[in-house]
Amino acid sequence: MRHVAIVGSGPAGYYTAETLQKADDIAVDVIDRLPVPYGLIRTGVAPDHQSIKAVSRRYEGTALTDNVRFVGHVSVGTDVTIDELVGLYDAVILATGAPNDRPLDIPGADLPGVIGSAAFVGWYNGHPDFADLNPPLDAPGVVVIGNGNVALDVARILAKTPGEFAGSDIVAHARDALAQSAVRHIQILGRRGPHQIAMTPKELGELGHLERASPRVDPADLPPEGDDAMLEPGMRKSVTYLRSFTANPVAKPVTIDFDFFAMPVAIEGDGRVQRVIVERTTLDADLTSHGTGETYALDAGLVISCIGYQTPPIPGVPYEHGRGRFASDEGRILPGLYAVGWARRGPSGTIGTNKPDGARIGEMVLEDIGRGAGKAGRPGLDALLASRDVTPVTFRDWRRIEEAEVAAALDGRPREKFTSIEAMLQAIGR
Ligand code: NAP
Repeated sequence: MRHVAIVGSGPAGYYTAETLQKADDIAVDVIDRLPVPYGLIRTGVAPDHQSIKAVSRRYEGTALTDNVRFVGHVSVGTDVTIDELVGLYDAVILATGAPNDRPLDIPGADLPGVIGSAAFVGWYNGHPDFADLNPPLDAPGVVVIGNGNVALDVARILAKTPGEFAGSDIVAHARDALAQSAVRHIQILGRRGPHQIAMTPKELGELGHLERASPRVDPADLPPEGDDAMLEPGMRKSVTYLRSFTANPVAKPVTIDFDFFAMPVAIEGDGRVQRVIVERTTLDADLTSHGTGETYALDAGLVISCIGYQTPPIPGVPYEHGRGRFASDEGRILPGLYAVGWARRGPSGTIGTNKPDGARIGEMVLEDIGRGAGKAGRPGLDALLASRDVTPVTFRDWRRIEEAEVAAALDGRPREKFTSIEAMLQAIGR
């Protein structure tokens, strides 16, 4: 029997498990710190994007196969170490994603009211780590930093009316707070220009159909229309949306302003954020931005930095600090230790990008481990955890948690998520 442990039950973890479980004589344990599976699908993908979240049914199919097991509520690093896992399993695959925000390295970034997107997205998606975030929504101005899809998710969620969350699984604390929100002006800062955005057409298009909010772009920021011809088709479509936003009058009560060539250089406020100091930029020939020295201030009671994510390092595991990911040779970190998904590539690409990645790493692992080295595997982990009084949450337990979440949902919502580990465990009688 071959034994493989996957650390992390998000898309990269389950796509890798999907490939591995098709092999003979294999037992795959998918370990997660939370009692609930699916990682970014549950706590990262926007709650009003249920069609994307539906991919979890595919992971459920994998989780329910005989040779795959979910080992929930087990923290690698505290309940069991990486070295212990490497000793127990023929291969250990880190599918831990990139849950930490890249630091916003400017003066004032530590003021109350400056929040990273991991925390804000986790808050509205019911991640237990961020249930108590309580973001300040009491001032009209919000600054969203970054020109990627996360910035768009954040701006859209801030702009939506309670009615526009129908059919979503946004959690009650966020639904209630957003319903009382005083936010009226959302400024999305991009340090480069419209041709350098990392936003995709579908997500940009959604902004054009919001009930009470209009996206606006200053036509002066757009390059000549003819220049769009050199963009690849997806980018061209995105820029076409930006062009359509130049025509928007301020007819709706909430504005979403795209502020291009705008680099935040400081955040100021008396005890909490009150304004962001922004420097105008221009682009060098290699399309990097540099400041022009011209600055201006934007009033804001909340700043959400959406500038990308990092994989948290694990002591003893080689790490690329500049890239915020594990150091690996195409996925091989050390003998018996692998990385997949964002933990391997860094935080880019869609959920679907993890499918070929998971398949490739799964096949690589199968080739490397051959028939297995007769390691202790599952029974070994169970004995170790039992000796430490750690009782994992099983997939069957998770389905009971899920049933309780579905049963608690009102008004056509798909589920009302538990937002604390205690509540999740209570649902299974612990
Ligand atoms: P991202 O796509 O890498 O975008 C990060 C943005 O932050 C870029 O515009 C970058 O600008 C900017 N930035 C970085 N450092 C900065 C700084 N110090 N100051 C100002 N701006 C800075 O990251 P993301 O938005 O977090 O998304 C992560 C991945 O998830 C992406 O692949 C994204 O497509 C995916 N995602 C997809 C969806 C969806 O499909 N619906 C939703 C959410 C996320 P520069 O270009 O100048 O570096």
